[in-house]
Amino acid sequence: MGKTDWLRRTSKAKLAVIFVAMLVIVLGIGLGVSSHQSAVNNSLLKSAETHFVVTQHGIIPQEKIDQTLVGLERAWQQIRDQVPEAQSHSAIHVYIYENMGEYKKYSGAALWSGGTARLTIAGYELHLPIEQDNTQSDSEWMTLSTMHEMTHIAMYMIVDSQSEAIPSWFAEGLAEYEMVKGKWFDINMVMRRDSMRYFVWRNWDNVSSNQFLLSYVPSYSSSATEVDVFYGGSYEFFRFLANKYSEESLLNILRDVGRGEDFSQAFINITGEDYEQAYADWLESF
Ligand SMILES: [Zn+2]
Repeated sequence: MGKTDWLRRTSKAKLAVIFVAMLVIVLGIGLGVSSHQSAVNNSLLKSAETHFVVTQHGIIPQEKIDQTLVGLERAWQQIRDQVPEAQSHSAIHVYIYENMGEYKKYSGAALWSGGTARLTIAGYELHLPIEQDNTQSDSEWMTLSTMHEMTHIAMYMIVDSQSEAIPSWFAEGLAEYEMVKGKWFDINMVMRRDSMRYFVWRNWDNVSSNQFLLSYVPSYSSSATEVDVFYGGSYEFFRFLANKYSEESLLNILRDVGRGEDFSQAFINITGEDYEQAYADWLESF
């Protein structure tokens, strides 16, 4: 007796009852998950208010501000576990912009950037536009962007006034690495990782010549393509270093620099080799 027989012999009324019961179960699970999610978000929002001070540029719906704060708090909690230095800190000033136009006008950031983190005399600053020009949805972008920029803030907390001593490839490689780390079931993260690898592969001649990554510093007038290659390459190189020496070692390089050590020397102190050699090894292995 097959499945078809069973169906044929079961009355329509019975089937209807089973169908309704299943619907109730599915809806119940859905409601349970979403009410759990909103409770989690509420508690994230509450603790976010103790770390972040928000300034708005333009008209921004409260819901968008809350989403941003939840994203920042989530990023914050991921970082806090790895970076004890981050636990006692002054409030982080978050400037949220209505759109890219407002962001570019008031943040002073480069045209290609989708968010900015700074350490100024006034303290830690984050500048984030709510709407983006690129193809990703704004909420997807926000998840990526908050994690990336919060990683920069954590780096400032470790190195403090020595932040200028950290080369761009290290700072951006770390921020991109933290952003996508471990998120294997998140399609946006997987796409981001793949596209970074693709940029490096497509522009391999550029990446592999003249120590491009080691000497490049993204600036206000950098082209978007150049920046993509630089970020992708920095991520790939940083990932190589994290696999070779552990994430904790790489953070220890920052700690050494924070104590006043020169970056090249700090790299040698922790890893036992200089970073030019590590770079050559990475090029070889890619
Ligand atoms: Zn960055």
